[in-house]
Amino acid sequence: MPPPRRSTPSSARSASDPLLKAAGPEAAGLEAAVLVDGRQSQSERHPRGALLEPASRAELEHPAPVPTTAPNGVRWLPVPGWKIPWLSSGFSTRLGGVSRAYAADGASGELNLGLTPEDSRENVVANRRLLAGAVTGNGSHPLITLRQFHSNLVVIAGSEDAARERPRKGDGLLCAEPGLLLGVQTADCIPVLVADRKRRVVGAFHAGWRGTVKRIVESGIGRMRLEFGSRPADLIAAIGPGIGPCCYAVGEEVWSEFESQFAYARVLFHEVYDSNPVHQRYPMLFLNQRAPGHMRAGTGLHVDLMEANRRQLLDAGISLQSIQIVGGCTQCNRGLFFSHRGARGRTGRMMAVIGIRSGKGVAQS
Ligand SMILES: [Zn+2]
Repeated sequence: MPPPRRSTPSSARSASDPLLKAAGPEAAGLEAAVLVDGRQSQSERHPRGALLEPASRAELEHPAPVPTTAPNGVRWLPVPGWKIPWLSSGFSTRLGGVSRAYAADGASGELNLGLTPEDSRENVVANRRLLAGAVTGNGSHPLITLRQFHSNLVVIAGSEDAARERPRKGDGLLCAEPGLLLGVQTADCIPVLVADRKRRVVGAFHAGWRGTVKRIVESGIGRMRLEFGSRPADLIAAIGPGIGPCCYAVGEEVWSEFESQFAYARVLFHEVYDSNPVHQRYPMLFLNQRAPGHMRAGTGLHVDLMEANRRQLLDAGISLQSIQIVGGCTQCNRGLFFSHRGARGRTGRMMAVIGIRSGKGVAQS
């Protein structure tokens, strides 16, 4: 028995479709080719079709932020406008520090903050002290980290976590205790910091594409509301350096995951054409290489994870003006940041940190 047909036979469809008749024989022929070729219409096979806005890499690039140099030589990124006396916060870069594992020959030491196979524990511990010193003024400030696994698991941290030999598993940290610094590690994934100005609660989140699809940031803020009574109007948030839409080429499965979860998925994706001068100069030459329903030659599907997480912050009720994009594409700026993709997996880790100051000099507000 022959398999059932999945679409109208091309000849029957061409003959009966008034739109195709009106468009002339060329249109009818094209339609027939599509149907014969795949037994599926273009829109069925690629639901995003040709509706994504094409963009060049340059159009999607963000300017890299300019780091601050701490007295101990660490170059890091404070959040512009976050001049809150009780709050310590910021994003590291790769500059400063004692690691040589990923540094070019003859270059100075780097600030690898992750326990990676190529670097020593001793270096990482020294670097973490340097970062704590740069951000809080105290190198021995307790730091709480996580064993991250691209989940939406949020951990409520306390002083007992600072003493742990092995960190807890999760991708989000929340804390209301003064004197502790929360840290999430990244090297392309998006770090997000949140603070409740009224109730003095802080949060740090690690959002790669999988964590973003699982709504790590949105659900983390939900936990802040449940556990601490935070109100969205009192929250401020900052999105740190990560791989930008200029560089983050992904497969169709990433589109499918986002499309199944977010009504606004389409605005997060771009069809990005490369800067290959031959493709740019002679686009017509490559037109025929585009299979029906596929992107034109020299393009890739890119996702904007910073925008995805900004959307989650907005959906959680944080106002537009309370969200700071510190940004900087890790892959575009490999001299400034560690980039997992940019270094084909052999790279260090940066850290986004946030904490409530303790002791003298912290004004009550
Ligand atoms: Zn980039």
